[in-house]
Amino acid sequence: MLTQAPKGTQDLLPQASHRWQRIEQTMRDTCALAGYREIRTPIFEHTELFQRGVGDTTDVVQKEMYTFNDKGNRSITLKPEGTAGAVRAFIEGHLYAETLPCKMYYVACPCFRYEKPQSGRLRQFHQNGIEVFGAKDASVDAEIIQLAMKLLEANGIDGLRLTINSIGCPKCRAAYLEKLRAYLAPKLDGLCKTCQERFDRNPMRILDCKEDAGKLTDAPAMLDNLCEECADHFEKLKGYLKALGIAYEIDARIVRGLDYYTKTVFEIITDTPDGTPLTVCGGGRYDGLVEELGGPATPGIGFGMGIERMIMVQDMRGIAPEAPALLDAFVVTMGDEARMAGVKLVSALREKGVKADLDHAARSMKAQFKYAGKLGVKKVVVIAGDELEKGVVKLRDMDRSEETEVSMDEILGKF
Ligand code: ATP
Ligand code: MG
Repeated sequence: MLTQAPKGTQDLLPQASHRWQRIEQTMRDTCALAGYREIRTPIFEHTELFQRGVGDTTDVVQKEMYTFNDKGNRSITLKPEGTAGAVRAFIEGHLYAETLPCKMYYVACPCFRYEKPQSGRLRQFHQNGIEVFGAKDASVDAEIIQLAMKLLEANGIDGLRLTINSIGCPKCRAAYLEKLRAYLAPKLDGLCKTCQERFDRNPMRILDCKEDAGKLTDAPAMLDNLCEECADHFEKLKGYLKALGIAYEIDARIVRGLDYYTKTVFEIITDTPDGTPLTVCGGGRYDGLVEELGGPATPGIGFGMGIERMIMVQDMRGIAPEAPALLDAFVVTMGDEARMAGVKLVSALREKGVKADLDHAARSMKAQFKYAGKLGVKKVVVIAGDELEKGVVKLRDMDRSEETEVSMDEILGKF
């Protein structure tokens, strides 16, 4: 118990952290090139934010949230996704009063969902994501899709399918939902229990049900029932994607799990060896959300990309980014006096930007060399008592197994 992390959580161990850092760095670099700045919001928010922001009818809010009362008896929820918090911060920070659009990204944002732990499904996972406020043109939809594809490619993840859809706006959706209910009503008895519950409150989600979707292939699609404005927006998005050379598939079945989406929704999917599709990135437009949460009407769009899933796909593809060298130099010392000189030398090397370390465990010289060898250190400096008196040390080239004597004053210059 004590030495076992809670179900559905993972440690990031030091030997693997470079893989995350690389994914995080490409996120920062790619976003900076497109004029995005970082946002960090709290790990927990008032539960109501997610009920309103993500939507009470969604699986995330109904079944998956980590909600608890704090000592002040406030209902608090660990964030299940990044958008609601970003929107809250956008409103609270009065960012709508500044120059728009406001383009932001977040890196390795911890997200919590009480899901059944299984391959690709954790209870704490991490997302890189983007949110753009105050831009309604489809060119920004295409921009964030392009950024998402670039981010995946930059991490060696190819062979992806981009699927897009439009789920309309409240105006055209209301009429469509009536049509959909009329289609579903006679079939309702044959659908799963969850779908029966969804019928009144969120019938679109029925089309997304893993169990029932197969029985509903002739259901009317939102995409065929868009109002003129939404249809035009979708046509423009396709035009921009084409202009950018980004291949896409239209999938009228994507409705996305979160309630706040309007118009564009998209997913980036890869197939796993056992044939089940794995969604690496999901996003969409949420033109009504800022207003819904108490801000001035402001269009918004964003995506979330699961870091653990990116790593999973890298593993599936046999991509293992190499770890950078841990140390450039190791200082082997013998005796207290030598260790004192070693501590000073290591400090000076680090000051110079050379990654350096020395033995802190009073190990034998042989053990110290073995350790340096294990770490793959290229240069080892040996400080031993008698030579130290002469003011010299030995510099060993580990690859060539060559040793030269260098005066203590000149050793720094060798790096
Ligand atoms: P799914 O259909 O796989 O449940 P979702 O629609 O719930 O995904 P989003 O809310 O769109 O997922 O989250 C965006 C991304 O976050 C997903 O594409 C995925 O990469 C990642 N993600 C979501 N849930 C989990 C989880 N439980 N464990 C690990 N990664 C996750
Ligand atoms: Mg989910």
